[in-house]
Amino acid sequence: MRIAAMMGIVPFSVKRPRIVTIGSPSPLHDSYRLPLSMDIGLYHYHMLPATTPVEELVKKLNILKPDLLRGFPSMLGLLASEQLQSRLQINPRFIAGGGEALTEEMRQQLKVVWPKSAVFDIYGTQEGIRSMECSPGGGMHLFEDLGIIEVVDEHNRPVPDGSLGHKILFTNLFSFTLPIIRYEISDMVTLDTEPCSCGRPFRRISQINGRNDDVIYLKSRTGDQVAVHPVQFWDVLESFREIRQYQVVQECDGIYLHLVLDNGNEAVIDSIRERLGRELQALGVSKPAIHVKPAATLGDRSGNMGKWKNIISNLNQTPP
Ligand SMILES: [Zn+2]
Repeated sequence: MRIAAMMGIVPFSVKRPRIVTIGSPSPLHDSYRLPLSMDIGLYHYHMLPATTPVEELVKKLNILKPDLLRGFPSMLGLLASEQLQSRLQINPRFIAGGGEALTEEMRQQLKVVWPKSAVFDIYGTQEGIRSMECSPGGGMHLFEDLGIIEVVDEHNRPVPDGSLGHKILFTNLFSFTLPIIRYEISDMVTLDTEPCSCGRPFRRISQINGRNDDVIYLKSRTGDQVAVHPVQFWDVLESFREIRQYQVVQECDGIYLHLVLDNGNEAVIDSIRERLGRELQALGVSKPAIHVKPAATLGDRSGNMGKWKNIISNLNQTPP
């Protein structure tokens, strides 16, 4: 309810706000349980599993017409392109991403498709971390009354606010059934150094660079290894409007980009390869081999609790 209130969704307004969450089909995942716990009659609440075929989601959303649409950013991206092609016709006042990183590029795409919607980012974990933006793009306030969040490096040493951490240690302050003490979470985050102008005392996450186990290591010009963070792939691939969905897979002979492109946009492949190659070289990677594989569809979401895993390494690699 705090998350909804921070977006400006008031439960006791005359017309009950209509909330649609497209979440995990698995009761083990947060995005399944959290909406259920919010369905207490204050809102019109609807849950749709992210494993539903897109055509069916479009049909249901056209009937439900949500005031708030919540979902994994990769799913929101797919729906944005459905809306662009006029198959989807909804105008939510609020859009909220969560469960995967909402990149700046994706936020811009959503703003282009739904210019009147406020696009918020939510970050949370199964273990109980909750965080939410007080204004779109303003950084996510960690709910520090619910837990102690320590941003640390590889050796569990605290990292100062403003620097990127390697992981989070989380201590839960509300679950007495399953106490969690300094539990290791592999998300790499940066906290803001400044207090927020909204006056809330909670610190804010200014950046999430993905999970440390999604970092890909490539050979550098000097023969060492270069750590390539997921954010480096997101930044490039999500800046291309033509890409509907993507997956980056590292194999022993290079990086494979599996791309679902909007019809007739194959011409963009060369510039995607060129742009990513340039970014990787700027990081110090020696002659990155990039193979682009256009596809009609990309796997399904059922193996990962409905989330889309967009970076995969098929190499057995250990960080240097
Ligand atoms: Zn604030």
